[in-house]
Amino acid sequence: MTCERDDGGSKNLIKFCPLTVHVLKRSKMPKPGFKTITVKEHIFSKYYEVYKKAKKERRLKDNTSFSGFVTGMMQETMAKYEVFARQAPFLEKIAIEQERVIIKDNKRDRIAEVMVRNGELQCLLDDKTDCIHIGFVYSLPEIYMVLKKKGGRAIAKTKKMQT
Ligand SMILES: [Zn+2]
Repeated sequence: MTCERDDGGSKNLIKFCPLTVHVLKRSKMPKPGFKTITVKEHIFSKYYEVYKKAKKERRLKDNTSFSGFVTGMMQETMAKYEVFARQAPFLEKIAIEQERVIIKDNKRDRIAEVMVRNGELQCLLDDKTDCIHIGFVYSLPEIYMVLKKKGGRAIAKTKKMQT
C-alpha cells in the first residue's frame, strides 16, 4: 500500500497520507496496558539477532513476536535477580581476624576492611569511623563480645549507637 504524494511535497506528506499518520502514531503510542522503553541500537540489534536465530532454529513458538521474546527474557532476568538479591544481602561478613573484619559490600561491589585503631573501629574503605560498615561490624554479636572484653571507646560508642 502506498500513499500518493501531494503537490506540496514531502513536507505535507503526513497531512495527506492517513496510512503514514497511522504508522507514526502506532510507533509512538503503545497499546493500552503496554509501555514502551527506549534502548540503545546495538542492544536492540543484539536481541533481535538472537531472536531471529532462535526463530530460525525453531526454539520459539511460531507465534512469538520479538516483543514477546524480549519480555520473556526480562521476566527470566528479573526472577534470577530476585533470587540473587535474596541470597546476597547488602553486606556480608567475610572474615573476622584479630584486629580486623573483612566485609563484602554488595551494593558497591567492594571489600571493606574495618580495623581496630586506638581502641576505635575504622573503615579503611571509607576512611571513616561512622560509615555503614562500622555499623555492620558493631551489629555482629562476636564483635560486640570482643569489644566488651576490651572496653575502651569502641564499646562506649556502641552503647551510644544503641540508644
Ligand atoms: Zn565503610
